[in-house]
Amino acid sequence: MSPTKPWLRHYPSEVAPTFEYPKHNLARLLVQSAKKFPDRPAIYFMGKKMTYKAFLEASYRFANVLTALGVNRGDRVAIMMPNCPPAVIAYFGTLMMGGIVVQTSPLYMERELVHQLSDSGAKVIVTLDLLFARVQKAKEKTPSLEHIVVSSIKDYLPFPKNVLYPLKMKKDGVNLAVEQGEGVHSFKKLLRSASATPICVDVDAEQDLALLQYTGGTTGIAKGVMLTHYNVVANTYQTSNWCYKVQFGEERFLGAIPCFHVFGLTVLLNQSVFRAGMLILIPKFDINLILDTINDLKPTIFPGAPTMYVALINHKRIQDYNISSINVCVSGSAPLPLEVQERFEALTGGRIVEGYGLTEASPVTHANLVWGYRKIGTIGIPFPDTDAKVVNSETGEEVPLGEIGELIVKGPQVMRGYWNRDRETAMTLRDGWLYTGDMARMDEDGFFAIVDRKKDLIIAGGYNIYPREVEEILFEHPAIMEAVVIGIPDEYRGETVKAFVVLKPGMKLTERELELWCRERLAAFKVPRKVEFRETLPKTLVGKVLRRQLLEEEQKQSS
Ligand code: AMP
Repeated sequence: MSPTKPWLRHYPSEVAPTFEYPKHNLARLLVQSAKKFPDRPAIYFMGKKMTYKAFLEASYRFANVLTALGVNRGDRVAIMMPNCPPAVIAYFGTLMMGGIVVQTSPLYMERELVHQLSDSGAKVIVTLDLLFARVQKAKEKTPSLEHIVVSSIKDYLPFPKNVLYPLKMKKDGVNLAVEQGEGVHSFKKLLRSASATPICVDVDAEQDLALLQYTGGTTGIAKGVMLTHYNVVANTYQTSNWCYKVQFGEERFLGAIPCFHVFGLTVLLNQSVFRAGMLILIPKFDINLILDTINDLKPTIFPGAPTMYVALINHKRIQDYNISSINVCVSGSAPLPLEVQERFEALTGGRIVEGYGLTEASPVTHANLVWGYRKIGTIGIPFPDTDAKVVNSETGEEVPLGEIGELIVKGPQVMRGYWNRDRETAMTLRDGWLYTGDMARMDEDGFFAIVDRKKDLIIAGGYNIYPREVEEILFEHPAIMEAVVIGIPDEYRGETVKAFVVLKPGMKLTERELELWCRERLAAFKVPRKVEFRETLPKTLVGKVLRRQLLEEEQKQSS
């Protein structure tokens, strides 16, 4: 055991500290499971099941559709959909033909969408008819985008009323004759007419990208994280090896976290397919739907964010449901409070462990042991083949044990870099180490705890909000002189956005008017919930707003 890796002594004998991760196309995970378990249900969605054989065939068809549309290896294919069958078919189909998947949040408004599509140079976007109007507008401003492939929500009816318009989608696209425009195609028709010839191209797994996964990173401007096939396959194996009691061909995964986020992609979708599990896709986090689903379909694995578990254990009629089928929950994205962990385990009889990751690491780098030693309030210990240190951000020197510094990690899951951003890549990847931007501390057992974020990321209900992006929208308002946003504690969402605003002399603006301004330009979860108008903002000598001071003032007020 290495003295510099004290965590290795906690590894149970079932978890090998090192493993040879296969170097193949990420989509092989589906090909392999379909070969072994062709008739097992792969997807469950709104009362309908799809077997592994059918899932594989549909993905092959989609791969052939893309080739017919002129998509080549290395071209980018955007997917903008909530959790639903076409989203996962498009994902595996794209990977099979060597395309690069660009996941796009269905909550994105036109401006955010245009940035992501043009930055990635996406050639095709796959979306839902409910989102079509927004995508069509974005296409006009994105020269690289040649095709919109639209899946109809009607194909998945009957939808319960409360999920018919998931994620606050507008109704504007529903009745559009979407097949008529140039470069606009129906997902269903394309799939029907396509060849089902098997295709899963050989890739250079360590070089070729599987995903361009957008994240704000440290600067706030969404950047594409280049994740290779090897990165993502490795993280899928690492997660799977960690959860060694999980069976092949036996499990049911509750798909409540979105597959457009990297946590959902690896810990939910890739994991379920690799383990030949049944993935229950939930298009929107609706607590009653989740409880009914657990009660009726008896999922065994439920990856989630703390807010989801909070909502579940606080439900008024939780006692009326049987949720004891859940064996394993992996909580990520934000800290998991102790009471939540304890109550959830008492209710389910299963295990819930906190892990940690970031887009740049595909994403998981740390977790507590599922069946073994855990430390509440920590993110656990590094995954197999993953090295981690707490360092001085400037010098890269390790800080003394127990002191706070920046968490840096190294491992097969760490990204190749940022897409077309060499400067940011050089700042974030140094000597093979990924600088996470999170401030942490390691104890003598090798357990890590996150103490703060170096970056000013706000995490509300599991969604990341970069203050700068919201501030830019505030600054665009003609009445606003200065603005800064911070995250303030929120009982339900963990954090929420508060804006401090200084108006131009003689100008008037109400909180409501500002909210409307933001709603038109930002996804709803980024819109400030609180606004405070001030005469001035605290600043440093060079004129930088003292965000930290505002945070401290808020803390004082609330305590
Ligand atoms: P993303 O790239 O969207 O996955 O966001 C990654 C960020 O989420 C990390 O850099 C952390 O700031 C935060 N994060 C993830 N897991 C945890 C956790 N268990 N505790 C605290 N923060 C976390």
